[in-house]
Order: sequence, then C-alpha cells, then structure tokens
Amino acid sequence: MAAPATELAALADWQRPLRAQFPIIEGHPGLVYLDSAATSQKPRPVLDAVQTYLTTSNANAARGSYPWANTTTALVEGARERVKSFLGDPDPERSSVHFTSGTTEGLRTVARDWLPFLLVDGDEIVVPFADHQANLSPWLEARDLLARRGVRVRVRELPYQASSGDYDPRALAAVTGPRTRFVAATHVHHVYGVDMNVHRIRQVVGPQVPICLDAAQSIGHLPVSVAGLDVDFVVFSGHKALALPGTGAVWARGLRGPRLRPGGWSGTPNTVGIASLVAALDWLEAAGTGRIERWTVALTALLTDGLDRMDAYEVLGCRTSLSAGSRVQRRRSLVTFRHRGIDSRDLGFILFSHGFMVRTDGHCQAGRAAQEGSVRVSLHVHNTPEEVEGLLSALASLQ
Ligand code: PLP
Repeated sequence: MAAPATELAALADWQRPLRAQFPIIEGHPGLVYLDSAATSQKPRPVLDAVQTYLTTSNANAARGSYPWANTTTALVEGARERVKSFLGDPDPERSSVHFTSGTTEGLRTVARDWLPFLLVDGDEIVVPFADHQANLSPWLEARDLLARRGVRVRVRELPYQASSGDYDPRALAAVTGPRTRFVAATHVHHVYGVDMNVHRIRQVVGPQVPICLDAAQSIGHLPVSVAGLDVDFVVFSGHKALALPGTGAVWARGLRGPRLRPGGWSGTPNTVGIASLVAALDWLEAAGTGRIERWTVALTALLTDGLDRMDAYEVLGCRTSLSAGSRVQRRRSLVTFRHRGIDSRDLGFILFSHGFMVRTDGHCQAGRAAQEGSVRVSLHVHNTPEEVEGLLSALASLQ
C-alpha cells in the first residue's frame, strides 16, 4: 500500500462528493463523528429511499394482493437477491437470506435455529473467545441448551496469534479434528481493527465444516466475497453499513448442513429498514467498497502512525506502525487506544469538548480485555485527513 498521505491525495476528488451526501455530517460543521463501528451515518439516497417507500407503497409484505402490498413483497424478495449479489454469491439459487435487527440477532438465529440440529453427543465446535460478546454467548448458550437434553458438545477456542492479532491456522489445526462440526469467526476485529484472515480457516478444517462469519465490521468497509472467504454464513448489521437502525441479515449457503429456515414469511419484516438496506448496498457498491477500504485504511494508518509518535498513548493490539518497522498488516477502519494517565471516559469527554465523538468503554469485547476501558476511533468514507489531523492535535495537547 502507498504511504497514507499519497493514497489520500489520490482519492480526495472521489471522496469529497461522497462526504457531501451525508446530511448529518454536512449539517454539523463543528462536530466530527468517529464512532461508525457502533453505528453508521446515513447518506441522502438512503434517507430518500425511506421517505419514498413510506410515502408511496408502505404496506405489510406477503399479505395482501393490492399494489402496495405487492410492491412491499417484491421489495423484500428483491432485497434478499441484493444481499446475495452484494456478497458475490456464486450460487444464489441455493442460498438464503434472513433479515434481522443486526449481527447480535443474526448470530443468535444461527445458534438457535440451525446449530442445535447439526450437533450430536461428543461433537466439538470452535468459537472466538476475545472477539465481540455477540459472537460468543450464543454458541455457549446453544451448548448449555443441548447439555440439558443430554447432548454434550465441547467448545474449543479459536486460537489467535499474538504477533499479528489474527487467527492462528497452525494452532487451529491442533484444536480441530474429526468431531469438529462448526467454526464461528470474525472478519475484522471490532477492537483491534485487524483483518482476522478467515480465508485460512477452510484450508485447516476441510470442506465439510460450516463456518459462520461475523462481518459486522467489514460489510461496507471492504469488498466481502463469500466465494473468496469460503464461509457458510455471513452475519452483519445493516445499521453499521449505512442503513437504518434495526436492520441486519444472515446470508446462508445452501449446500452444507441443515438449511436455515427461521421465520420464513411468518411475522412482519422491518420493511422500511429493508428498503434502507437495499439503498445502502446500492450506494456502497456505486461508491466502490474497494476505494472505501483504501480511504479508511489510509486514514487509520495516519491516525495510528500519529499515536505511535506520542508516548502518552498506548495503541491496543498488535503493533502495526510502519515507523516501528514491525508492521504486520494495516488496521482497517478503526483504532483503539488508552492514555497512560487519563481515564478513557474522561478522555472521551475531553475529546467531545473539542468536537470529536468517540467510543469509550470495553466495546462489548468477550473475555478479560473487556474489563479495561479504552477509546475507540472508527472511521467511514465521510471522514477526512483534516479530521484525523485535528484529532491528533487534540490528543497531542493532552500529553
Ligand atoms: N459483532 C461485532 C464484531 C460488532 O462490532 C458488533 C457491534 O459493535 C456486533 C457483533 C453486534 O452488532 P449489533 O449491535 O448490530 O447487533
């Protein structure tokens, strides 16, 4: 990758008109939104899609036979196809898409409506113990539920490598075997910003073991291809990918394991949220997820390199600084750090007095790391180098 400043200069003319499409950003010139990993801001076409749907064809789906109802049914059916094409699904005839309120509900759906039907006594599953809590609790609960029915399932930890922060394929080989039936993994870590290199999991576990991917921090930030990653489930939050709150989806491959059949058409789907999700995916594709990735990775590198130059701050996770000469991989669109002398919540308040909105707490991380607070800065396509430089100046004044 080119140096961050070179990359940002090359993409500046592409980024400027995209930023201008976020009314909340344009409408608050003194404020800088740096919490897109929690939830994203929405570009104008997404807001327009919501308004258009609600003012032209709002109705329930798969119920009536009048035009608004038919339009809504077609919207939901079309949205399933949109999710598939966005994910580069090579076999859309066999796969399925289930809409949820977000990643938490999506992972819970896989754990509740699919996984228990796969497992028998003595089976093993492999799950991450230091990623988002939403990608740990559902699997443990599924194990406990099965145990009450007399089905004992062993939960193994998906191993990490300390030097690079991603999953360790060698150590994974040591915890998998003929009884391994399922692996849950995360695409991009929500605290360390590291690409977890999940494409390596398939090579270790073989073709038959279903892999479920938490893509909460990758959808909308980089191109996500189900074929390239070779996973069986992709679970994500629409609201982190420029769509409305209360949106998300589970994409499920059709070939391996039992079919995921949660809900079907029973119950009323979040039709307006689904309309926003289609518009968001259209917008992201038109903007180019590859360019969004280059932009946010370069911004994040600018920030990380700046933090590395200040002794008062400790960046969490593996070292990725070029200047430190030990870069393993660039962080994606987020960085988490601590001030060595200022409590993270206090730092959050101070930063807001300068106009910067950041996340401060344990970030819902599973395991021990969650107990200590930190500041997370997460970026999206509307953020600029000037905003990052401004943040670095504010942080420098607190050294
Ligand atoms: N997984 C990861 C990696 C996340 O970052 C988040 C949210 O921050 C979630 C799961 C939960 O997403 P949601 O709150 O949309 O259910």
